[in-house]
Amino acid sequence: MPNREHERPLSRTAWKPRRSQFGGEAKKAIWERDEGHCVYCGDRAVAIDHIFPVARGGPSIKANGVLACRRCNGKKSANIPIDALTRAFYHLLTKGESLKWIDEALANS
Ligand SMILES: [Zn+2]
Repeated sequence: MPNREHERPLSRTAWKPRRSQFGGEAKKAIWERDEGHCVYCGDRAVAIDHIFPVARGGPSIKANGVLACRRCNGKKSANIPIDALTRAFYHLLTKGESLKWIDEALANS
């Protein structure tokens, strides 16, 4: 059977990601809000990090996503270092994000 993987239209992904991902609009908004820099250390960002991990009930919304560099993104797992959390939440508050989602995430975690 020929491999037709490359013919799959990008806009209609047939598979569901195992982990929740940020949608296109959220991604764009996060990159613009954080200006391409890692919120944890200020380096050039390479990825969007869930502050409150998906594995623990964190939503894939702009107010739970921050840019991270390769090093900081690699450091994080389902365990959240308190200094990283503090810095990320402070950043979101200064950017005017609503953190009301935390209540629900904590209830579901
Ligand atoms: Zn970093």
